[in-house]
Amino acid sequence: MSLPRSPRLDFGRANAPAQNASRERYQIDGVIVEYILKRSQRRRSITLTINEDGLRVGAPWRASQSRIDKLLARHAQWISLKLAQWQARRPAPFSWQAGAPVMMLGEPLILTLTNEKSVTRRDGDRLCVGVGVNTGDDPATLAKQVTAWLRDTAQNWFEQRSAHFARVLDVRAPSIRLSNARTRWGTCHPDGRVHLNWRLIQTPPALIDYVVVHELAHLREPNHSARFWAWVERAMPDYKARRRTLRLDGHRFLLA
Ligand SMILES: [Zn+2]
Repeated sequence: MSLPRSPRLDFGRANAPAQNASRERYQIDGVIVEYILKRSQRRRSITLTINEDGLRVGAPWRASQSRIDKLLARHAQWISLKLAQWQARRPAPFSWQAGAPVMMLGEPLILTLTNEKSVTRRDGDRLCVGVGVNTGDDPATLAKQVTAWLRDTAQNWFEQRSAHFARVLDVRAPSIRLSNARTRWGTCHPDGRVHLNWRLIQTPPALIDYVVVHELAHLREPNHSARFWAWVERAMPDYKARRRTLRLDGHRFLLA
């Protein structure tokens, strides 16, 4: 099971320069550290980045391996520390069984099996899932039922928040569709449709609101210009803190 990555907001990079990525290894204090080495024609210096995916080294096209190794040696302590911090941020692998915590609006609901056939409902801090005699506690069936319930909940929640912020931004409330993207929280289409990742319902309400505001502000400005961010700030003065939390911790709330 692969760990979920923190999805990004809309707009991928266009016209990326020529680059080449390879998987490399380096030894720090007897520990092998794997990293992705990305060489690019555009890059002028060597950069180190650490996030939930691990260590990435960006290097100019012709940078020698010994130059890269020297930089890694110089920053060995920082690399070990940052990797350990990200490791601690990783969510435990999720398994579909009774007692598992299903994240919903940033809070865990304990997955509870009942014999009410095909009913999924919230009861306090429990998520009760009805399983029939035939289905039992088959993980695939549980996953399907819980996902369907999360999607229903997401649709209602997103529509309500979007109607609220449409009034704040003075735009027409868009039609909200759920997306299943692994790498995007939301997308705003030029024709006014807004797609929001259903997995977002697992994150705290403050983060959902940030994504909703972000996408609705694109109905004002279809880019990431200063004017766009001014609209975001008008609707949500503390958006920077929320954006940062979503970037750092968004993936923690997602089911694997
Ligand atoms: Zn955007």
